[in-house]
Amino acid sequence: EPELKRQQAILSIDQGTSSSRALLFNRDGKVVAVAQQELDCVYPDQGWVEQDAELIWLSVLKVCRQVLAQAVQLGIEVLGVSISNQRETTVLWHKAKDKVLAPAIVWQDRRTADYCQQLKDQGHETLVQQKTGLLLDPYFSASKIQWLLTHNADVLQALADNELAFGTIDSFLLWRLTSGQVHATDTTNASRTLLLNLQSLNWDQELLQLFGVPEQILPAVKQSADTYGLCDTRLFGLALPVLALVGDQQAAALGQGCISAGSLKSTYGTGCFALLNTGSSPLFSKHRLLTTVAFTVQGQTFYALEGAIFVAGAAVKWLRDQLGVITQASETEALAQSLPDNGGVYLVPAFTGLAAPHWQPEARASLIGMTLGTGKAHIARAALEAVVYQTADLLAAMLADGAKVEQLQIDGGMVANNWLCQHLADVLNLPVLKPSQNEASAYGASVLAGVALGWFESLADVQFSSEAQQFLPQMSADKRCQLLSGWQKALNSVLL
Ligand code: ADP
Repeated sequence: EPELKRQQAILSIDQGTSSSRALLFNRDGKVVAVAQQELDCVYPDQGWVEQDAELIWLSVLKVCRQVLAQAVQLGIEVLGVSISNQRETTVLWHKAKDKVLAPAIVWQDRRTADYCQQLKDQGHETLVQQKTGLLLDPYFSASKIQWLLTHNADVLQALADNELAFGTIDSFLLWRLTSGQVHATDTTNASRTLLLNLQSLNWDQELLQLFGVPEQILPAVKQSADTYGLCDTRLFGLALPVLALVGDQQAAALGQGCISAGSLKSTYGTGCFALLNTGSSPLFSKHRLLTTVAFTVQGQTFYALEGAIFVAGAAVKWLRDQLGVITQASETEALAQSLPDNGGVYLVPAFTGLAAPHWQPEARASLIGMTLGTGKAHIARAALEAVVYQTADLLAAMLADGAKVEQLQIDGGMVANNWLCQHLADVLNLPVLKPSQNEASAYGASVLAGVALGWFESLADVQFSSEAQQFLPQMSADKRCQLLSGWQKALNSVLL
């Protein structure tokens, strides 16, 4: 009898806005261990959203150590590390001192709205869109870097000393995992900075000049599946290789098996992000969607059309933490279900402005249509419905850009809510598929590491699970139109 081979796994770090998680995936794509730690944001001023990068690092270190301890107990051999991460969030640090120089400016932060508007007024948006596939919005990293370079003396001193480094979260974690040996990022994360040329996949001199960002502070751009370097053995007692970096939304698309042109997924976490794989050349939107790198693997880059919504689950968190209407996110399901209809109440959750397809950083949220009969169930339902109507707006933009969509694959923390899933199917008038394994981002990143390791010859070699719960549209066309026109009215009251 041959000796049973020890089970092998990849350690997949999933660094999100609301939590840091570490998962072990085996070769069959099964989760064999998981650890999680919640994270907070800080809101120091109107429209500002910050996180402490040191706390992010400590949370990642902790959850990694927890799953590696589980691996030892389970007799699992861990072969490498992948990272999927919240995108655009901007970290600056001093290389020699290995010290973070300012609070991380989170992707939702709107403090650079005026600056972006100035650049728009100067007529730069067309060039920026042609080069990067993105728009002039505070969402992306470049204006956040520019802000730190003009507002923080420590940052300027580090720059003068040639010790300043910029990274999105992937890059910062890689730096820490390798104890400062490697300063790199991948094409998906780089494509969210407003500094990367989408065609050449290099930092673009003209854009660096426009935003006043010195090239020497930027990480090297590598493939999403690549040999990034080894983790410092002092961290985990093992020199684990880092094999994949990928933005969480692109990772989720991969994890959902969206590896060929035409496949579409939508993730419902803090925000909502719909990505449509458009194949090996970028498709530039005429309807204010984003064009972005889907992944670079084995020398080949795929692109995606992306619709981004800033607030999805964040509105549910707001109901819980600011209003105290619920004590747990999951309560929204029974509350929504308890009503025969929305009672004409709509929430436009423009808490941090509106993203696709409106791009209005200065817009603010509104709750309209209330009567004395409006209760917390209506408000909870309005928060869930808003996610659905915003998805409908994204889908309309994708269709207008020439996409053909037959179904929607969904994932993310919010899809635990079956009422939401059914309302999505009803309002989009599309079959909605929820995979039985709701770990798309972490799984997608582990698949990339699997390719780098040689577990899979290529992405086409991966057996993506097809097990999914299906939600079919049941709503009448009349009802659908009525709801969408109610939403449109609410939206119009918020648009500037
Ligand atoms: P992220 O990756 O952005 O940190 P997750 O994918 O972990 O986010 O999803 C967490 C979000 O989902 C939170 O904002 C939370 O409010 C929301 N959420 C979690 N469970 C439910 C539920 N049952 N119904 C509605 N929203 C939920």
